[in-house]
Amino acid sequence: MQAGARRVVVAIDGPAGAGKSTIARRVAQRLGFTYIDTGAMYRAVALWALRQGVDSSDHHRTEQLAMAAEIELAPGRICLNGEDVTEAIRTPEVTSGASKIAVIPGVRRAMVAKQREIGERASVVMEGRDIGTAVFPKADVKIYLDADPAERVRRRLKEEIAKGAAVSADAVAREMKERDQRDSTRADAPLAQAPDAVYVDSTGLNVDEVEEAVLKIVRLKITNGKGFH
Ligand code: C5P
Repeated sequence: MQAGARRVVVAIDGPAGAGKSTIARRVAQRLGFTYIDTGAMYRAVALWALRQGVDSSDHHRTEQLAMAAEIELAPGRICLNGEDVTEAIRTPEVTSGASKIAVIPGVRRAMVAKQREIGERASVVMEGRDIGTAVFPKADVKIYLDADPAERVRRRLKEEIAKGAAVSADAVAREMKERDQRDSTRADAPLAQAPDAVYVDSTGLNVDEVEEAVLKIVRLKITNGKGFH
C-alpha cells in the first residue's frame, strides 16, 4: 500500500529485546515498505571506531567517522564503506560500543541526516530509539514497543543461544539493563515514548499477534481501518 502516491513513515521505538527488528521487518514486508534498522547504523559506526582504535570518549574523531561512514542498507544486509558487515556488527563489543557512541550529538546528527534522507525517498518502517521523537516527529504512525524486562532478557538469550553464543541469562540481563539505562538517560534524543505514540506491550504475545496488533494500528491511522490492497 502506498496510500496514493504519498510516502508513509511508520516509526517503531522501544528498549532492547522488545522485538522491534522482527516486527518492523515483518510489518514492512506486509505493507511493501522499506525496512530500516537504525540500530544497525549506530552499530556500523561503532564497529569502524573499534577497528580504528578510536575510543568513544573521543567525540571529535568518532563524529568524523560517523560523517564519513558510507552506510548502505539492503534487505537483511548492511554494508559499511563497501564491506558487508551484517554479522560483524552483532558482537557484544559492538553492541556495547554502539550505545556508547550513540550519546555523541555529532554522531546522532550524522545518523539522523542519513535516516531522514532514506525516509524522504520511500515509505518506510523505521525502528530505533528516537524515530518518533527526533528523526520523524511527524511520522504518520508511531509505535512504542515494549515488553517486561524478564521477557526481553529471555528473548535475547534465545537469540544468542541460536547463534551459538555461550552467554548466561545474568550476563544478558546485565548488558541489557546497562544499555537501556544509557539509552534512556543520555542528554541527546534519549529513548522515550513520544506523546502521540501507541504503546504496545508484547509480553505474552507471539510474533504473529504483535505483527497483527501493529498492522491494525497502522491501518487505523493510515486508511481509517479500510485495509490495504
Ligand atoms: O537496536 P540496536 O540494539 O541494534 O541498537 C544498538 C544501539 O544503538 C542502541 O543500544 C542505542 O544506543 C543505539 N541506537 C540509538 N538510536 C537509534 C537506534 C539505536 O541510539 N535510533
